[in-house]
Amino acid sequence: MRILLLNPPAEHTAREYVDPANPNDHGLLDTADFGLFPPLGLLYILAALRKSEPKHELFFLDCIAEKISHVELAKRVAEIEPDLVGITSFTIAMYDVCLAARTVRAIFPSAHICLGGHHPIAFPYEAAALPEFDSIVIGEGEEAFPALAEAVAKRADFTGIRGVYTAASIRSPRVGLLEDNRFLNRRMPPPAYIKDLDQILPPDRSFIRNINYRSIVGASDRLATMISSRGCPCSCTFCDVPYKVYRQRLVQSIANEIKSCLDMGYDEVHFYDDLFNITPERVIAFSDEIVRRGFRFTWDFRGRVNTVTLDSLKRAKAAGCRMISFGVETGSDEGLLLLKKNCTVAQIRQVFQWCRSVGILTIADFMIGLPFEKSAVDVRRNIDFMLEIDPDFAQVSILSLFPNTELFADAAKLGLIRPERWQEFARNPVPDFHLDHWEQWLNMSELLRLQKNSYQRFYLRPRYIWRSLLATCSRHEFAAKVQGAMKLFR
Ligand code: SF4
Repeated sequence: MRILLLNPPAEHTAREYVDPANPNDHGLLDTADFGLFPPLGLLYILAALRKSEPKHELFFLDCIAEKISHVELAKRVAEIEPDLVGITSFTIAMYDVCLAARTVRAIFPSAHICLGGHHPIAFPYEAAALPEFDSIVIGEGEEAFPALAEAVAKRADFTGIRGVYTAASIRSPRVGLLEDNRFLNRRMPPPAYIKDLDQILPPDRSFIRNINYRSIVGASDRLATMISSRGCPCSCTFCDVPYKVYRQRLVQSIANEIKSCLDMGYDEVHFYDDLFNITPERVIAFSDEIVRRGFRFTWDFRGRVNTVTLDSLKRAKAAGCRMISFGVETGSDEGLLLLKKNCTVAQIRQVFQWCRSVGILTIADFMIGLPFEKSAVDVRRNIDFMLEIDPDFAQVSILSLFPNTELFADAAKLGLIRPERWQEFARNPVPDFHLDHWEQWLNMSELLRLQKNSYQRFYLRPRYIWRSLLATCSRHEFAAKVQGAMKLFR
């Protein structure tokens, strides 16, 4: 069989921020401004397919990174002539995802089209009912998708494969018995999932050898992304991370994958885990393994402050850790409590100071437009804290309300949002969908103005500019900083 795994074009992705007073204003920095990262989930599935059935011919298109439009996609699909197409998805990208599926259907009506990714987890019934798809995979596809491929090749029934559904099978009495799913933390049809991450093959990066992925905060243009764990057991009230059970790989297996990346010419690794540093011991064990094996590369991860120790930072630095991104969100203990961040302002201060003392760069992710920020003064106070901890990079988002989160439910209860909008969009994706925000106290125009002001307050400080120029050590870094600065001056 000829199997195509597809990251569809993103020409109509729902806008995160839209200023009703100025509909062309979508905020200072777009998601794409922070970088372009490979769809690792598809590369994992390609590795699994290559092993399970080597005689399949495999194809991969990342329309976003390769700048493939819907028109161009039609030409590529016609050349590939796929029998089976797996399309990854996020809910906010569903209009493009359906367009891409229709393109495939128009050219090869007999091709089997399967929808995977985040959307079927968030909206399983609506996803299964979309006429563009012959099946959906709910959950992690490394075992489910190759099993589906085998069934499709043999024209066999595939509805018994865990996590694979059709519009009919998801409503059948067998599936109708919804599980209270500990894995996904909600009532769901049984999903596909991988218990032991060391049992699956690492992503097949040979498919992205010639694609230029990048991160605005990366030091190199040979950046690999990697996952050392999946899931997050924390309960931040704004977060829709789908997998709640934390599963981690052995440090030896992570180090083996790093070795293969270094052999391919990568010299920087960005860990894409939801939560890399679940304990300081894990960071120490990983760092010591890297030192023991003598690898020379830089790496960074996303973490929480409440599991950081000075010792774990020192060991990470010795192993090449260049940067850590912390979800700080807000600068008051009351706020942190309400967001269920399970940390304190004092801990945040301490960890940013430790990072500076050992020479690890920091990114602080802040949010504004939080339910307890009732005025511009409250927002500015939050940003004052950002200036106080003085990270090397800062990101200021406006809180977006996603289904399956506590804040989404709170907003719905208060009548601030109409939650059915999401189901309606999931049933019938349209191009002009936009996200909801907490606009009880400050409206979107005010929040966008405050967001711009926050970025300018942070990045346009003379001391910051000077420090950051001194610290720029590669052409790639310099170009990224100039690009960011141009936007700030806009
Ligand atoms: S924000 Fe981060 S730490 Fe909190 S639940 Fe989501 S992934 Fe976990």
